[in-house]
Amino acid sequence: MNLLIMGAPGGGKGTQAEILAKALSIPTISTGAMLRNVIALKAELGNQAKKYIDSGNLVPDGVITGIVIDRLKEQDCKDGYILDGFPRTLKQAESLETAGIQIDNAIVLKVTDEEIINRVVGRRVCSKCGATYHISYNPSKVEGVCDVCSAQLITRDDDNTKTVRHRLATYHSQTEPVINFYAKRDKLIVVEGIGSVEEISQKLLSALGV
Ligand code: AMP
Repeated sequence: MNLLIMGAPGGGKGTQAEILAKALSIPTISTGAMLRNVIALKAELGNQAKKYIDSGNLVPDGVITGIVIDRLKEQDCKDGYILDGFPRTLKQAESLETAGIQIDNAIVLKVTDEEIINRVVGRRVCSKCGATYHISYNPSKVEGVCDVCSAQLITRDDDNTKTVRHRLATYHSQTEPVINFYAKRDKLIVVEGIGSVEEISQKLLSALGV
């Protein structure tokens, strides 16, 4: 099954993508995580990407699209995958189609802007494996320590109120048109992203007929 998950930043798409990927035994391809890995290498491309990300803007289509299309050709994607955070513009969605990449379903997690701002301020990510937590909704077992790999949890540089407001504006203007793109192709599944992590993943799995 080839899936993608969309939704406003901090709306829980990364967490839900991981759960779906486990349930369906397919890999998660997260463009945000891929970009953060490039940044950690401290090479020129990473330094450029960091500027866009920290200011709440999208990395240019030309930088991210080729990386994603190459990644989807790898062996572990042959039985399906879940794209988390791609496409984020109409141009990216069109590029997937032009490359002959078929998406079975595009999932949209619907969360209000106010709720997003509350959530993002409490989000923590693992500095090593990228697992995500929330200090109230999805806390790690030991405060500040990753359940998966025991590394330290950190707050992302772009998870502050000012940047999040800008990321939300970017989402509304550039990413929301992509919802319509998949609606027109009859691929859209819209789920309210409100409730516990488990409740939302149950809703998603039943919408997918799993
Ligand atoms: P995320 O972890 O999905 O919230 O992504 C973090 C940041 O990475 C975004 O705010 C963008 O700056 C950048 N990014 C991730 N995916 C994309 C994409 N498909 N196109 C452009 N920029 C992206």
